[in-house]
Amino acid sequence: MDISFTLPSLLQPADLMTLMRHIKESRNIVICGHHAPDGDALGSTLAWQGYLRALGKKANVVMPNAHPDFLRWMPQSQTVKNFRDHYAVARRLIDEADLFFFLDLNEMQRMQALGSYIAQHSRAPRLVVDHHLNPKTEEFDLMVSYPDMSSTCELILRLLIELGAYDDLTPTQATQLYTGIMTDTGCFSYSIADPLTFALAGMLLRKGIDAEEINKNVYHSWSENKLRLWNHILSKNLRTYPELHTSLYTLTRQTMKDFHFIRGDAEGLVNEPLKVKGMKLSIALREDTEEDVIRVSLRSTGGFQCRDMAEQFFNGGGHANAAGGKLPFPIEEAVKKAEEAIAAYADELKKPAERNIKD
Ligand code: 5GP
Ligand code: MN
Repeated sequence: MDISFTLPSLLQPADLMTLMRHIKESRNIVICGHHAPDGDALGSTLAWQGYLRALGKKANVVMPNAHPDFLRWMPQSQTVKNFRDHYAVARRLIDEADLFFFLDLNEMQRMQALGSYIAQHSRAPRLVVDHHLNPKTEEFDLMVSYPDMSSTCELILRLLIELGAYDDLTPTQATQLYTGIMTDTGCFSYSIADPLTFALAGMLLRKGIDAEEINKNVYHSWSENKLRLWNHILSKNLRTYPELHTSLYTLTRQTMKDFHFIRGDAEGLVNEPLKVKGMKLSIALREDTEEDVIRVSLRSTGGFQCRDMAEQFFNGGGHANAAGGKLPFPIEEAVKKAEEAIAAYADELKKPAERNIKD
């Protein structure tokens, strides 16, 4: 069976040369992902670390803060240093670094305190591989930016193929990359307009990874507390605005305490209301556990793009259908702000959801 396909190159020859030169000239490389690392950020940074280490480089992943518990099973995830819990060692790695890779992020600010520290203390080149819209090109030395791509993991895999590294890709790296593609596409259910995404996932399966096990590790490893928390939010806390095809819920520190919340327990919850037929926008307002801010998560479907709302009302940004931001005030005021945002988009939200599949 021949399932060969042509893979268009990601990089112009000059950029590929630049990338290879930077790697060749460096010894101590630090790889970072965005704040609150998800499966894509963790998978892509770890797989890239594996590639660089195989080249004989000293490469380390440094994250702004800890990744969620539901990703702890990921091979090598325990080696990741984060700027909050491993401050001294993370700082030393950054101070020694002669090259940075920033994966799954489009601006230094997405790394919060880690980004500020690097900007202030290091002059080492900064290279980016990312799939978010509106990259801040001026902050980086080389940018591999493909906002249409499903995930940074897909991008990293393509880059590795382009660099001739597919044959040496290990099952560990393939597992890391598959996780990022799987989580960023909601198990291959969105951001998958490109048939290549499936072909590339197939190339990872060929490395002998256990896709079923990966899926179980990520999605079916809930605690009972998490199950009850989701039930509580959806049954007691969800407000809906049926004419506007919109829903909104809050998650307070008190509720987190009541349900013995651990990091990652609310991950994905914001997608749930979109399972209601016709629903176009889901808004989540969550009291942050580390800072005095409200984290805003937006998810949309049916033709509504939530990124503009995130930029205009929530000091944030993101993708067309998955965006977020933060608000510097108490939860009640955050609800008012969200209702203001919903009202401002009422005309657009009122229209029935568009169907992707044409009858
Ligand atoms: P989540 O709801 O999972 O926290 O975030 C979804 C997406 O929204 C992220 O992938 C990111 O693109 C974007 N996002 C979340 N928070 C922020 C923020 O504070 N600023 C910006 N610019 N984008 C954000
Ligand atoms: Mn991503």
